[in-house]
Amino acid sequence: MNCIFCDIIKNEDHDGMIYSDPEVVSFLDIRPLNLGHTLVVPVEHHTDFREMPPESMQHFFAKVQQIALAVEKATGADGFNIICNTGEAASQTIFHLHYHIIPRFRGDNVFRRLEFKQYNSETEMRSFAEKIKKHL
Ligand code: AMP
Ligand code: ZN
Repeated sequence: MNCIFCDIIKNEDHDGMIYSDPEVVSFLDIRPLNLGHTLVVPVEHHTDFREMPPESMQHFFAKVQQIALAVEKATGADGFNIICNTGEAASQTIFHLHYHIIPRFRGDNVFRRLEFKQYNSETEMRSFAEKIKKHL
């Protein structure tokens, strides 16, 4: 299978390598939204978040948190976004699961063009919540 992240993991050859253990690797994104923008990636190839086995989540998310705190401290950021694009419609371009940690600075306007939708009524909001609850 042709996967750029599997290649990086196999060769551990990346100028921005930050962390690796048998289950998780982390390296800098080559197109950072802010400097220090970091990716955290499971070693095992899963196409996206939908396929991640729940039993690997504890270690993975402990590492996401540890690395996010390190990114924040190292960059002097005021906060960070943790993002996992899932599916083409959500702008996923590399189909090996990964989390983005994006250090954020007050007023940096990284996501300035967000447009918020509105529920038309409380009933509509309740009906969305009910629909989602049915699938839990
Ligand atoms: P996504 O849109 O969530 O699939 O994001 C994929 C990310 O991987 C993008 O932000 C790319 O800049 C990043 N990326 C692609 N190739 C590399 C690479 N060789 N090293 C580091 N980051 C990469
Ligand atoms: Zn892969």
